[in-house]
Amino acid sequence: MRTFSLFIGGHPVDGIGRRDVINPATGGSMGTMPVASAADLDRAVEAAAAAFRGWSTRSDTERAQALRACARAIEAHSEELAQLLTLEQGKPLNGLGSRFEIGGAVAWTDATAQLSLPPELVEDGPQGRVEIHRKPIGVVGAITPWNWPVMIACWHIMPAIRAGNTVVIKPSPLTPLSTIRLVEILGGVLPPGVVNVITGEDALGALMSAHGGIGKITFTGSTQTGRRVMASAAETLKRLTLELGGNDAGIVLPDCDPKKIAEGLFWGGFINSGQTCAALKRLYVHDSIYDPVCAELAAFAAGIPVGNGLEEGSILGPVQNARQRDIVASCVEDAVAKGGRLLLGGRPGNGPGYFYPTTLVADVERGCSLVDREQFGPALPIIRYSSTEEAIAFANDSQMGLGGSVWSSDINRAKEVASQFETGSVWINRHGAIQPNAPFGGVKQSGIGVEFGQEGLKEFTTIQTMFC
Ligand code: NAD
Repeated sequence: MRTFSLFIGGHPVDGIGRRDVINPATGGSMGTMPVASAADLDRAVEAAAAAFRGWSTRSDTERAQALRACARAIEAHSEELAQLLTLEQGKPLNGLGSRFEIGGAVAWTDATAQLSLPPELVEDGPQGRVEIHRKPIGVVGAITPWNWPVMIACWHIMPAIRAGNTVVIKPSPLTPLSTIRLVEILGGVLPPGVVNVITGEDALGALMSAHGGIGKITFTGSTQTGRRVMASAAETLKRLTLELGGNDAGIVLPDCDPKKIAEGLFWGGFINSGQTCAALKRLYVHDSIYDPVCAELAAFAAGIPVGNGLEEGSILGPVQNARQRDIVASCVEDAVAKGGRLLLGGRPGNGPGYFYPTTLVADVERGCSLVDREQFGPALPIIRYSSTEEAIAFANDSQMGLGGSVWSSDINRAKEVASQFETGSVWINRHGAIQPNAPFGGVKQSGIGVEFGQEGLKEFTTIQTMFC
């Protein structure tokens, strides 16, 4: 593996040390990341601020063209990025894994190129004309998690630069190398300093949220860290977008055909081995079809191969890190201790890497951690309910409000139930599907603000009202 550096102002920079990056499929080192100092962060912010002057005054058309060039550059390096992503993140090359993630990064970049925010007319009358203009904020600090590192980096970088901002991005210390490589690739088509990357431990993120030269933080990660970012950003009144944790519920209504919905339910819960913010994390099934839904889901899940992501036949990979694997294991142990019945999995092997088997636990209720907290891994609790009102109350009994789903053959009934979810997104007969032209974000403690589409782009601007 080559040695990766920080990338600041268009140049590689060493940092003050190095730290191992672990391959989750083996538990061994797959490379090292540079560790940035506070002075490196200052240099990155200065480089971004210097680039802002030229970048923010480019025409809208030029910036759209630059984004399209970014999409083509990522596309040209897609297999290299996918291999690197699998090595450090663990997800397979195939299925909904690394190649899919890089494809998504390209699609989101192209879609963001097409957006624009022309001035809006409020009034044009005898008293004069009033217009709303959208202006870039300045330097945006982007902080990303380890589950979808390249795609989320593009969700942060692309709208920020499309609106005329410049960026300093800090990936998770668990998956830093694919983001460094992404920013190097973008450096081939963007002016120096427009996108900079620094890597280091979590404390580097805290320095960013407090930094006086950064005008906005766009953060994706846990609710706990989101609270810290918000508190520390208060001092400088930074703009914030916070995309945080979720504990999404799905409600299966009694009119479903269990065989027809099994595949959709499975991928709703197990995409990226369950390490997805808006994955299905609690499944509520009506008493009348509970047993057949459990049986069909277990039969489908048993046929999905789990293995080292570099092997072309693997469709799911390991959990990304030992800490997360242990959280999942302890949630399952707690559920079983409280009467849960294992339909599949639940007993980790003792081979190398952070593998945890695909696990389904039936006959569980509120009061166990697998139901009440975000497990963020390949284990799904299936809870029995007897009335729709009861299921909706269970689903909303959470401080989280990211997504939810309703499964039914009656679209009108499904929409009626869906509208009662206290969540930022709700799906019918699928779970977790997102697209670049539809806003996505959490309510309650799942976040503040939205990403994607016009609404997401606006978050990277401030308003200037012009009275002419
Ligand atoms: P995390 O909160 O531990 O870390 C996220 C990022 O924040 C990392 O880059 C980390 O280094 C940095 N960080 C840590 N402490 C910080 C601090 N005090 N100040 C600033 N930055 C700090 O999250 P994670 O474990 O990497 O990711 C998993 C979580 O992310 C899950 O809860 C998941 O639901 C959530 N997530 C949410 C979305 C969404 O769109 N809502 C998407 C993906 C992941």
